[in-house]
Amino acid sequence: MVKLCMIKLEDHLGRRFEKLRISLLNTCNFSCVYCVTDSVESAYQNVVPSPKGEHLDTDEFITLIKAVHKLIGLKSIRLTGGEPLLYMQLIPLVEKIRSIGIEDIRITTNGYYLKHRANELFNAGVKSINISVDAIDQEIFSSISRHPNTTRVFQGIEAALNVGMNVKLNAVIMRGKNDSQILPLLYYATELGVKIRFLELMKMGHLYHSENGLFFSEKEMLSVIQEKYTIEMIRREDSETAHYWRTSGGGTFGIIANESTPFCHDCNRLRMDSNGFFYGCLSNAHGEKLAPYVHDEELLTEKLRGLLRLKQPVKFHGSELSMRNIGG
Ligand code: SAM
Repeated sequence: MVKLCMIKLEDHLGRRFEKLRISLLNTCNFSCVYCVTDSVESAYQNVVPSPKGEHLDTDEFITLIKAVHKLIGLKSIRLTGGEPLLYMQLIPLVEKIRSIGIEDIRITTNGYYLKHRANELFNAGVKSINISVDAIDQEIFSSISRHPNTTRVFQGIEAALNVGMNVKLNAVIMRGKNDSQILPLLYYATELGVKIRFLELMKMGHLYHSENGLFFSEKEMLSVIQEKYTIEMIRREDSETAHYWRTSGGGTFGIIANESTPFCHDCNRLRMDSNGFFYGCLSNAHGEKLAPYVHDEELLTEKLRGLLRLKQPVKFHGSELSMRNIGG
């Protein structure tokens, strides 16, 4: 357990870093169309495992987490990627994070490996998990993930629920690709009794400069849902990334509308990539290595203050970094 100094690190909008999101590695067994371009070379780079040394090991991650936590007292950590379940030392990492005194550890995963890993993750202390599921229809799901076996994702969702994890589902909605899946996904989530969040497509990575016509807005998602259900908005918790609604069908869904209704004004996230670069804002592609400052609290505080200053006041502007690098 780390003894906290708890410096006051707050910007003019009252924003603080409270949640750390870590991309453990930037490779993934899926090549989702929003993360990876169509080029064969890029898709290949995505699926080959990172050679040793291309991402931090658990001790390197822990040194950085500990130093930051000591200064600002992190409330929670989300492990993501790339695909975090491909990180070989995932369980020891979770255990070491808990030993620092951070109990709230969450994971965002594509669910593919969850069927056989849910139990050990739960026992290690991961009680909440977000699983990405972009379609119920297998053909559509495979065309987005560019992976032939998407049934494993649904088995992963069941496994997580069976061990008692708090499960949320995420679906990025794209015009002409899976907007037909909004209602089937909502129905599936409602049947399981879990929340689903629909995400507006964000201009990140190879989408940054592309005019692809794929964007499907919050307004459009709501009108699809309202064709079938009456909906009632639920009060948004501070710094929540989504707005939530209850449906007359008994379900709850959220929309993460980074374009239409951004949540920058009370964003409390700090991000670290798999090489130890820290990012204060999703719109800023230039990371800062904090490893040189972990033994100097004054300099580390200054660096964190600088990262906080990078947060956009109102709107996400897009980034050249793909989510699989910065950690979605
Ligand atoms: N492999 C894991 C997974 O599939 O959940 C974790 C990493 S993935 C980058 C995390 C989340 O980022 C997923 O929910 C994914 O849908 C979302 N994401 C990636 N690129 C996106 C984009 N351009 N716009 C919106 N969401 C995006």
